[in-house]
Amino acid sequence: MYTFQSVSLDITYKCNLRCKHCFNSSGEFLGGELNDSQILKIIDEISKYQVESICLCGGEPFYRFDLLLSVAKLIKKNSPKTFISMVSNGILWTNKKAKELSEAGLDVVQFSLDGFTNESYDFVRQSHGKLSKVFDAIKYAQDAGLDVMLSSLPHKKNFNQIQSMIEFCIANNIVEFRMQPLMPLGRGDLNFNELCLSDSEYQQVQSILKTNTGRMTYSGQELKIEWGDPMDHFFMLQEVPYISSLNISAYGDITISPYLPFSIWNLSKSTFASFIENQIPERALLNSRVIQTINEMMTVNDLAVMSHRMNKIENISNREALDISKEIIGEERVG
Ligand code: SF4
Repeated sequence: MYTFQSVSLDITYKCNLRCKHCFNSSGEFLGGELNDSQILKIIDEISKYQVESICLCGGEPFYRFDLLLSVAKLIKKNSPKTFISMVSNGILWTNKKAKELSEAGLDVVQFSLDGFTNESYDFVRQSHGKLSKVFDAIKYAQDAGLDVMLSSLPHKKNFNQIQSMIEFCIANNIVEFRMQPLMPLGRGDLNFNELCLSDSEYQQVQSILKTNTGRMTYSGQELKIEWGDPMDHFFMLQEVPYISSLNISAYGDITISPYLPFSIWNLSKSTFASFIENQIPERALLNSRVIQTINEMMTVNDLAVMSHRMNKIENISNREALDISKEIIGEERVG
């Protein structure tokens, strides 16, 4: 029987922002997303597999707020030990909504803080004076008893604010501060040159993070500081016997990485039970196309090359994934 370490589910790609770095180009609602009952059915099935953590992502998940509450309640009912997190830009949060999410079973929220001044935040988020809303959201969430993580993209205009962000985390009892390099996918690809730091600047970022590792917040807990290297996904996939971290798009595609647009199963066409019965978590890793692609991925630039190839050759647009489920089922088992 499989157990799953983590599942991330994109609730919607609708978003109130159009961030320059958004790798799945969230924004406009383009239709075709799973409906509420499909999502609840998927969650009902998945949460019976002892998933360690489930992350509700997007887009901005608040655009399906009632669904978000129902999903969190269902997870806690089926699997009380599963850790539930969500990712949000924070702009639509209120005191009341934070309490409702906490009561529904949400454990932690990750807000994006891509700048520490209006200038640096609005530059990358293409917003106008919305930074204060993120600070409000942090307070609403903490008052409701939720843990708060902050994630941040290092870029040309916030490069000198990273230490200030860490001091903010310390003073405000943030549980984790996470930075991740720019992904050359979606709008991150279109705006790559404008945003991307040089190698030496990235090294300086990592050095600042390292220097601050082990610091305690005012409440006496260690601030977890993470450098999220997206390539770790691919290196890890070369080691494991089956895929234990699943990514489900708002269209129902299960992919083995949010950055690898291969749909190994689609939950709008088939059930999670048949995903398991057909042993897709292990068979996907034996697929020649998957193996070759994973082996090719050495740097984030390889992701850009793959993404362009998918766009051109397979005619796959940014939020879509190429359906390889039939290939996987049709292949002879190896080993
Ligand atoms: S990065 Fe987040 S907040 Fe920005 S457009 Fe994408 S989903 Fe929305």
